[in-house]
This record gives sequence, structure tokens and C-alpha cells, in this order.
Amino acid sequence: MSHESASGDQESLLQFLYQLPVAVWRMSGAGEIDLMNPRAVALLVALGLPSRADQGWAILQALDPALADLSRDHLGEPGLVAEQRPVERRDPQGQVRHLALTAIIVNPDSCMVAIEDVTSRVLQERQLARERQNLAVLLEALQGYFVVMLGLDLRITQSNRSIERLLGHGTTIVGRPGAELLRADSSEPVDLAAMAALAVRQGWASFEAEYQCADGGAIWGDTILSTIVDDAGEAAAFVIVARDVSERRRREVTLLDAALTDPLTRALNRRGLAARVEPWLEDARAGRGETMTALALDIDFFKRVNDTHGHDGGDAVLRHVGQLLAQLFRRGDIVARLGGEEFVVLLRDVPEHQAMAMAERVRRVIQDTPVPFKEATIAITTSVGVARGDNVTDVARLLHSADLALYRAKAEGRNRVVVAEPLD
Ligand code: GH3
Ligand code: MG
Ligand code: MG
Repeated sequence: MSHESASGDQESLLQFLYQLPVAVWRMSGAGEIDLMNPRAVALLVALGLPSRADQGWAILQALDPALADLSRDHLGEPGLVAEQRPVERRDPQGQVRHLALTAIIVNPDSCMVAIEDVTSRVLQERQLARERQNLAVLLEALQGYFVVMLGLDLRITQSNRSIERLLGHGTTIVGRPGAELLRADSSEPVDLAAMAALAVRQGWASFEAEYQCADGGAIWGDTILSTIVDDAGEAAAFVIVARDVSERRRREVTLLDAALTDPLTRALNRRGLAARVEPWLEDARAGRGETMTALALDIDFFKRVNDTHGHDGGDAVLRHVGQLLAQLFRRGDIVARLGGEEFVVLLRDVPEHQAMAMAERVRRVIQDTPVPFKEATIAITTSVGVARGDNVTDVARLLHSADLALYRAKAEGRNRVVVAEPLD
């Protein structure tokens, strides 16, 4: 009974070996093969090796001499001799086959050899490595593009060398949050996390962003943020591919500039003021508004300048005031010429005492800086009206209020600053 079941086991083991997708044979210490599965026969034929029943060792010797020696040495001590040894062998057609050899001493006088043909796997791996390398070369060669890999946490894991050329960043950026690549005070801020969330939903997200350069400058990048998915189709990483479009942006800005600025003073014109103040008003409408301060400036007795020095003298004064205002105020402030010799400055989130100090400073600087014109210098003064409001959604109303204060400054003797009644 137990004998029968043992031979039944033996039978199913043989069945298993025969169907195994691995070449297997078993041989005695003398090299007699007592078991060889069809896979092994086919493989030996394909490799042009003899598969004679008494030549087990010769076959192994031909494939892997060191393994043959090792296995013979191990006869008498059952166990694994070596596992998955890589062997390359040319078949009669000249094709290289990649094999993985395993030898086991199964009982004191017999050795089992298993050979796996891993050619297609090895070729695939090599192909993949080649493609990776090609891709890397391609990415390096793409002038004007930079590529950055981000982890799911949006930290930088890798980048191509263009990032050094375009942004001036070295390998030190690896590990930094990807959002640090973007310019923090950009005129068009991009929320990288929101873009990543969009990329997860639709596979990619595209946007134009201002990237921070190591030297303090910035470039504009036409950007595609793509998701890299794992085998299960889940987002595993992100890749940013960005093209430098700074030149195009500069051209656009120049065109825009021409439409929005006053050519005489380089200050914004009425349209420019409206365009620049619009995001502030949007913030206010969304309840995110900050304090807004308007300074309305009007040059005193400007008609006299024109009368004394001619229209060119008047123009020189206007240019001069435009320059002074550009020097006195920051990039984010709005300086506009609304007509004639009237200027407006809009400031955001400036405390009242500071706004007053700025108005006073403008008045004094204009008073103390006469305008050189031909052989003469033209001394001028200005009157300033100041108005402030919280959450301003109607800039015309704020400007009107500043204007009323300006009229009072004129009425009270000019060359002075007057603060408007607070807006209700
Ligand atoms: P006030 O102190 O009351 O402001 O007196 P004012 O002489 O400055 O009076 P007003 O503001 O009424 O005069 C503005 C003058 O500015 C009238 C106009 O001839 C002159 N003006 C307007 N635009 C220009 C310009 O582009 N160039 C020159 N040169 N003059 C201009
Ligand atoms: Mg005037
Ligand atoms: Mg005027």
C-alpha cells in the first residue's frame, strides 16, 4: 500500500518535471542520464549539443566547465551546488542564447541539472537599458527644454542637465520641493499641487510658469506635467517637461507694454492701471482684499512751466516726475499717468502711517529735485491727495476720494499732502 503511494508520488513528480518550462535532466556519477524532460532535449538540439544518454557530464562540461567540476566534487553530499549561473552560448545559427544553470546533488550518486533559457528576458532588459540611455541622451540633447522628475510628494528626484544650463541649478536641487523651482512672486503664480492633482485625474496638466533661476533671474517655461503610472495603473511619480518660452513672453510683454503705458513718462496709462488693478479688485471681491491706498498727484502751476519753458520744458518735467515715481515705488505698486500732469499711485497693504510717509516723501523729493532743462533748471512742486480703503472693489470711488483730497491740497495753498475722509 505505502509502496504503491510512493510510486504514485514518483509518478506525479515525473509528470511535473516533464511539463516544467525548464530543461531538466538527472545523471549518475558516471554520467548516465536516467531522466531528461522534453524541454531539455529540445534545448540541447537547439544548441547543437549531443544528448546521448551516457554523456551527462560531457553536456554539462560543454555548457559550463566550472559547474561540471564543482558538481562532480559535490557528489556524495546532497544539496544545491550552484543556482542560476549565467551562461552565454552561441547556437549553430550563430545566435547567442542566455542560459541560467542550476545544479543539485539529489542523492549521493546523482546530480540534477536545470537550465532556464533566459534569452528573451536578457534581451528585453538590454533593450530597456538601451532605450533608457537613448532617452537620457535625447533629453540632454533637447536644447531649451528641461526635464525634472518628481516623487508623489512633489519633491525632485532627478533632472536632466539642461536644468543647469537654463536655470543654473546643480544636483543640489534633488530632494528639494518641486514648488521651489517656481518663482514665488510670479505675476502668474502656479499651484504645483493643484496641477499634480489634475495630472493624476487626466494623465497630464499643462501650464506656463515662471521658473526661478539660481542667479535670481527667472525664465518662462511652457510646461507639461505628466503622471508616471505603475503596473497597477496608480500614479507613482511625476515628470515635468518645460520649454523655455522667455523670448516669446518678452515680445508679448513689450507689445502689452506699448498698449498699457504712456510713452512720455513710461508710467501706466488709464488702461494699464485698469489692467494692473483688476487682480487686486478680484481678490477684494473674493474677500481676500487688503488695504488699498491711492495717491493722486498734480503738478502745481504746470501751465506756468509750459508758458515759461515751452511745451518741451513741460514734457521734460513730466518725464522727470515719471522717473522719480518709478524710483520711489516698488515693482508691485501701480504708478499711472491719467492725463495732463496728473499721476496716480496705488499701493496695496501699506499701513496708514507708512502711506502718509510715502506721500510726504514724494512731495518732498519732487520739491527738492529740480528738472534740468536746456541751460536752466525747472523747480516744481506737487499737491497730493491720499485716500485709503479696506477691501476696495470700486477703484473709481477710491480715486475720486483721493481727487477731492487733492483739490483741498490745492485750495489750502499747494505743495502739500491732504488725506481724504475715510471711505464708508
Ligand atoms: P494747478 O496748480 O492748479 O494744478 O495749476 P496748473 O497750472 O497745473 O493747472 P492745470 O492742472 O489746469 O493745468 C494743466 C496743464 O497741463 C494744461 C495743459 O496745457 C498742460 N498739459 C497737459 N498735458 C500736457 C502734456 O502732455 N505736455 C505738456 N507740456 N503740457 C501738458
Ligand atoms: Mg496742475
Ligand atoms: Mg491738472
